[in-house]
Amino acid sequence: MNWIKKVLRIGEKIKTVLKKRPTKEEVANSDWTSCCKGPVLKKDLENHYWVCNSCGKHHRISCRQRFDIFFGNNNYEILKTPIPQDDPLNWEDSKKYTDRLKDARKKTNQECAVMIARGNINGINITAGAINFDFIGGSIGSAEGEAIIYGVQHAIDNKNPFIFFPCGGGQRMHESPIALSQMTRTTLAINELKKNNIPYIVCFTDPTAGGITASFAMLGDVALSEPNSLIAFAGRRVIQATVKEDLPENFQRSEYVQECGFVDLIVQRKDLREKIGSLLSILLKKNSDTNTALSDETSKNNQQSTKIAS
Ligand SMILES: [Zn+2]
Repeated sequence: MNWIKKVLRIGEKIKTVLKKRPTKEEVANSDWTSCCKGPVLKKDLENHYWVCNSCGKHHRISCRQRFDIFFGNNNYEILKTPIPQDDPLNWEDSKKYTDRLKDARKKTNQECAVMIARGNINGINITAGAINFDFIGGSIGSAEGEAIIYGVQHAIDNKNPFIFFPCGGGQRMHESPIALSQMTRTTLAINELKKNNIPYIVCFTDPTAGGITASFAMLGDVALSEPNSLIAFAGRRVIQATVKEDLPENFQRSEYVQECGFVDLIVQRKDLREKIGSLLSILLKKNSDTNTALSDETSKNNQQSTKIAS
């Protein structure tokens, strides 16, 4: 046998080994996933809020899993948000955008990447939103923008604090300018929350980047983060190539971002409910005190002007 035949045989062997590797779908449907110490049962991870017992990695979770942890299992109501027309630009690259949407909906059982829910923590009614990274990388298009604005409006109408768990790569290129306009729209919506004196708490999750960081996600009254989450605008390699300097190991991780002052507090997933609950008690008390003080001041002024008039 000459060397060419040998090489061909090795090639065939490699092919069979590669074929035996499970597909992404098979991994998603399996009972197992992997972390630092190899395979781990999804059930075990779920029992620990999807956080690894050994290395503390906070695994990515869906919106429903997020609400289950935050509000308690099924202790919340998912709100139906408006879904605008799919694919307004008739986008097609290696695959049609409509097909990508169809696949993402089937995979995540969500209509768009953002989900809004209402629930209650410590007797405080809350409107909360989350993004699912599995829905086209958690990117923001028109449906996601509408969902966020719907959530904000719901919070204002019901005088609920608004809590948001962002993640995702930024604006969705398949909707180009329409996706970009969601940065302005969501920013204006958050301004309405502030005008109405409604607390807005953001908890960054891994990874939050691009237009998400550059709009509604950075506008929280309090910015929390799960440990070791990537929080960035441009990627590490782009920045390194621009500034031509070595960047620290934990660059753009929540611990580093906290040192730079963009994150107030890093909170373990298991403690988020309690921490946000106590933050809200403080913020709401402060707001109601301010309101009472303001209305006292106004009534005092009114009394004085009545006296002057009489
Ligand atoms: Zn681990």
